[in-house]
Amino acid sequence: MDRYVYVSVSPDVALKGQNRPFFTRLVFANLERALDGLAVEVIHRYPLALLLRLPQGDLWPEVEERLRRVCGVVKFHPASRVRLDLEEMKAAAVQELNGRTFSSFRVNTRRGDKAFPLTSVQVNERLGGMLKERFHARVDLEHADVTVFVHILPREAFVYTEEVDGLGGLPIGATGKMVCLLSGGLDSPVAAWRMMKRGVKVEFVHFHSFPLVEGTSREKARELVELLTRYQYTSKLYLVPFAEIQKQVILSVPPRYRVVVYRRFMFRIAEAIARRERAKGLITGESLGQVSSQTLENMVTIGAACQMPVFRPLVSMDKEEIVREARRLGTYPISIIPDQDCCSLFVPKHPATETSQSEIEVLEKALTVEALVEQGVGGAQLEKFRWP
Ligand code: ATP
Ligand code: MG
Repeated sequence: MDRYVYVSVSPDVALKGQNRPFFTRLVFANLERALDGLAVEVIHRYPLALLLRLPQGDLWPEVEERLRRVCGVVKFHPASRVRLDLEEMKAAAVQELNGRTFSSFRVNTRRGDKAFPLTSVQVNERLGGMLKERFHARVDLEHADVTVFVHILPREAFVYTEEVDGLGGLPIGATGKMVCLLSGGLDSPVAAWRMMKRGVKVEFVHFHSFPLVEGTSREKARELVELLTRYQYTSKLYLVPFAEIQKQVILSVPPRYRVVVYRRFMFRIAEAIARRERAKGLITGESLGQVSSQTLENMVTIGAACQMPVFRPLVSMDKEEIVREARRLGTYPISIIPDQDCCSLFVPKHPATETSQSEIEVLEKALTVEALVEQGVGGAQLEKFRWP
């Protein structure tokens, strides 16, 4: 019997009416993209699901791995596809259960087509009766070891025992494009991923002080982007040389204000790159109160350096929660590789925690802000990533 995979997508509750076809087209396109290079065939597009046929051989682990990373997928399951015939359903259920050890089971039938002559309860009973004898197992509706799902559609039925949770969220590209300031630390990759899950296509900007410090942070940024590209298939990474700006800042800005001034330059340069990319917002990994540059006052002062909205999806999260998510995402081992953060250059242990826009603007008068921003944007080196 051929193996199929039934992939359910679901428009977020907020997406109704006219947005629905757009959403489903996009998630289907992303699904096909995610399976690129595998001999998986798209058999049918239902209104909110896609049916795939797996080739002979054991491709399921690879398919599962890839489907788990598609934003907008709610659930998926490998299944046997049968005709609308109870005997075929029984045979498929036996095949699904063969080789598995269990002492209790239940049958869960869902009827998408009310024309089928048996009700869901009748299918449950008939299948359950046969399976009970065949496998010497008891029926347990509450805590069954295995569940046999039967999904009856107008032209066919699917029988399966394994359901995998998808990522949920919205398909990449559904909500627009943004640029993430990616540091190489723990937070910003998680922040980027959170926005991707809400349908944002993310491009990346990384600031490095090479050759003032070694090039580790660039390498980390590349590895992080490579990993995140698995969720959005293509990415751009702009590597921006920051050493010249830092030299200028060090010459005229007192140490306690340097981090805030560095960050304001980063925001301005990222904004210029975002405009070039036709992106509509910036993303950072800032979390309120986490470090001195992330006090409310400093976040306001830094954010005021650019016009574009800045999204901070981690703003309310504790470090522990962020670490947990970084582990789940797989970015954790890359992020913790030691490197010299460009913003720690010539900065005191206790930087100013309560800066105001006006006092920083006074300090910036001594700098050729526009020229330095232009120089940063002009010196950016673009790298492109693709997956698979
Ligand atoms: P992260 O773990 O993301 O580095 P953090 O807790 O270390 O964050 P900061 O180093 O203060 O906090 O950085 C705050 C945010 O500023 C980062 O999340 C990131 O979005 C941005 N940022 C900081 N340094 C860089 C950099 N070198 N290149 C790009 N963005 C940066
Ligand atoms: Mg950092």
